[in-house]
Amino acid sequence: TETVNKAYAQLAELDKKHFMHPTTSFKQQHEQGPKFIFTEGKGIYLKDIRGNTVIDGLSSLWNVNIGHGREELGKAAMEQMKKLAFSSTFATNSHERVIELAEKVANMTPGDLNMTFFTSGGSEANDTAFKTVRYYWQLKGQTQKKKIITRKKSYHGVSMGASSATGLPAFRTFPSLAPDFLYVESSIEALEALIQQEGAETIAAFVSEPVQGSGGVNPPPEGYFKKVRALCDQHDILFIADEVITGFGRTGATFGMEHYDAVPDILVIAKGITSGYAPLGGMVISEKLKNELIDLSDGVYMHGYTYSGHPMCCAVALENLRIIEEENLIENVRKMGAEFQKGFQWLADRHDVIGDTRGIGLLGAVEIMKDPETKTRFDEPVSVKVIEEALKHGLLGRSIIYEGQDTLAFAPPFCINKEEVATIISIIDQSLTTVL
Ligand code: PLP
Repeated sequence: TETVNKAYAQLAELDKKHFMHPTTSFKQQHEQGPKFIFTEGKGIYLKDIRGNTVIDGLSSLWNVNIGHGREELGKAAMEQMKKLAFSSTFATNSHERVIELAEKVANMTPGDLNMTFFTSGGSEANDTAFKTVRYYWQLKGQTQKKKIITRKKSYHGVSMGASSATGLPAFRTFPSLAPDFLYVESSIEALEALIQQEGAETIAAFVSEPVQGSGGVNPPPEGYFKKVRALCDQHDILFIADEVITGFGRTGATFGMEHYDAVPDILVIAKGITSGYAPLGGMVISEKLKNELIDLSDGVYMHGYTYSGHPMCCAVALENLRIIEEENLIENVRKMGAEFQKGFQWLADRHDVIGDTRGIGLLGAVEIMKDPETKTRFDEPVSVKVIEEALKHGLLGRSIIYEGQDTLAFAPPFCINKEEVATIISIIDQSLTTVL
């Protein structure tokens, strides 16, 4: 253990000295250093340099969907790298893997969503969608149609456009973010009123996650997206679904919007397309949009990332999607998701401080309140302490305290079994009992 602790201490010092962490408190990071330095993963488990094993209860960042340690993906990456590590897809260039993956995505997505633009992640994919809808209306001669409506509590990423589209105010505390984003409450009446107030002729698109993730695991109100689809059609507003978390099986359907009977004009993907084994995202557009872009545009669409359609990332995605299909992992999400949601219900019955449980498939949250009857909150959020306690019992989860919420969020890998679900629920149960 002494050698192990020494190895940890040395790396922790270097981490503090040289590594600027994403989404972190500079002060806390500087004072405390890294809590974990992970070294390996297998299935739903992660192991760190000091030998601690924890359940990856959020699939890391809701992305390691097939679970850790699948060597097939490493093999697919290596074979592709050996054969063709990189070639451009700009202009008229292409390569085998990107074509295969674009076809695969077209086959998996609902409706006539048939053409994909690839990026390295979700933020770039959302920015691509926002630029593309504005480009589209410009081509149609409607240059004033540029506002994008987004929902409060939404999360769409951290690039300029994606931060601006994010409805959680905590992500918008920067000066001069991108203009023309409007934030709306999650009711159809509020959306309708906003469209009336602003004028449909000024609105390019509406963007939403099927189930909000980082904003607290919030499923939509009953019938919401069907009405959104109708409103968008009525007012010539494009509908963008951000399926970065929900895409490729997380909710028990291939895409989250399938639960809500709405097909968007643009579907945004990332995370689960590679289960985090390689960085990849994208924007899938409808056949109708594609044909209009072909008809209307007469120059070059000046938008492309060096790594749009990176061959190795595409090879990893293809292997990941093959595994999801061949091992019936979405079926397992439905089965284990039912156990998981039942577990949350059981917790709600046992703990007076649970005000609400929310979720779908392997995406779930527990809302903590001092007094659920009167919806009174604790003076200080307690979910942070519950998550810390759960970690002592070997479960990694997330606390969400934006917008006065006090939420425990979990989203384990699709390969989870019944015993492992029971373990997660039991650790949450113990942790709630200990802390409250
Ligand atoms: N959209 C949603 C719904 C997300 O949950 C995320 C990341 O958590 C993003 C977009 C941003 O993706 P990325 O972090 O890959 O840029």
